[in-house]
Amino acid sequence: MIRITITLFLMLQIHNVAAQTDDEKQIRTIYDLALTKGKTYGWLNYLSNQIGGRLSGSVQAEQAVNYTKAQLDSLGLDKVWLQPVMVPKWVRGTPEFAYLENKPGYTSNVPICALGGSVATPPGGVKAEVVEVKSLEELETLGRDKIQGKIVFFNRPMDARLLNTFRAYGGAVDQRSKGAAEAAKYGAVGVIVRSMNLRLDDNPHTGSTNYGDLPEKDRIPAAAISTNGAEFLSTTLKLNPKILFYFKLNCKQLEDVQSYNVIGEIKGSTRPEEVMVVGGHLDSWDLGDGAHDDGAGCVQSMEVLRLLKLSGYKPKRTIRVVLFMNEENGLRGGRKYASEADINGEKHVFALESDAGGFTPRGFSFDSSESDFNTLLSWKQLFEPYHSAEFTRGGGGADIGPLKKPGIVLAGLRPDSQRYFAHHHAQNDTFEHVNRRELELGAAAMTSLIYLADKYELGSAQ
Ligand SMILES: [Zn+2]
Repeated sequence: MIRITITLFLMLQIHNVAAQTDDEKQIRTIYDLALTKGKTYGWLNYLSNQIGGRLSGSVQAEQAVNYTKAQLDSLGLDKVWLQPVMVPKWVRGTPEFAYLENKPGYTSNVPICALGGSVATPPGGVKAEVVEVKSLEELETLGRDKIQGKIVFFNRPMDARLLNTFRAYGGAVDQRSKGAAEAAKYGAVGVIVRSMNLRLDDNPHTGSTNYGDLPEKDRIPAAAISTNGAEFLSTTLKLNPKILFYFKLNCKQLEDVQSYNVIGEIKGSTRPEEVMVVGGHLDSWDLGDGAHDDGAGCVQSMEVLRLLKLSGYKPKRTIRVVLFMNEENGLRGGRKYASEADINGEKHVFALESDAGGFTPRGFSFDSSESDFNTLLSWKQLFEPYHSAEFTRGGGGADIGPLKKPGIVLAGLRPDSQRYFAHHHAQNDTFEHVNRRELELGAAAMTSLIYLADKYELGSAQ
């Protein structure tokens, strides 16, 4: 009898230690629902395989607006609507073509793609000698003497030592974003940029290039070359600095067209005037189907509202999903959303973006006040069982950036980043490279964070 009592006592003790707090229970429920009744994977399948790459102003972008609006309509939210925004329309045209010429008749093809926003080459293409540089500074040092009439080849790789590959991207991407504008100033006739990719493969990676205020007539065509192609070109140049490079781009900038941000919300029960946003960008580049960038972030954001409802949680504040248009080549959607919020006097207190791929979530980065960050750190332990407890200071995301004001908390989902840049803006950013569970875990982590930020009223509006 005594023994039974002791056993019972011990069991009660253990039960006490293991007793779940309400927050632990709610978060467990959110994860269970995401992993057993999730919708993200099905939605992403449709966006990727039935619609495909969704470049701003394309038919696919319009189909994605209609599809996601219809899906949000089916979730029983309090309000779903489209927010009009004019977007740029750049088209790639027929596939690009490039080769190295050692001497007449001795050529080797290399894979390239036009950078977003680039002008086309003349109809016959461009053929010229190549000057390889590692930076914009090196270009300046060489000056017009060495650059005039040549193709500039920017070949500084992403820094492989950085564990956070977004930092490595940030350290290399000036070659792509500013290379053409800078090289044009020294009389270059074209620009070839090593793809922003840490591995060696044959996929060229596109992305925006920006001519700034360079007059139309002075703009030169710019393309990305695959990392294998870049290595090959660099080696060949060392053997024979006089080789010629030929490339032909068929892209075009057309008139702006009407498009939309897709928005849905659950009205807050006690503080409806305080808005919390969760979102990703609905547009993508055109080479792949935009599954990681940023189809994943869109379906995860939609799932946040669905999981909150399904779990029975009634938010105090208004929780809004925003699928932003035109992040990739203009950020018009993010800017439009923030300016409308201002015009309407809306109080945004918190915004969370998922735009770093659909890989295993590791945690979040936060742009917030010191005291809000301390509150966030006190929640870290709730994410530890789900391996998503890396809470760091950092930016939220490009689309929610324009919402920045004192008091608001901006957050970004931070998935494992080691494989992201093997797919980013390339033809292999496709659905089969997204893992279902990793995608679902991201949605669950985001929903858990939104739940806590709502319940404990994180962030404030000034
Ligand atoms: Zn993106």
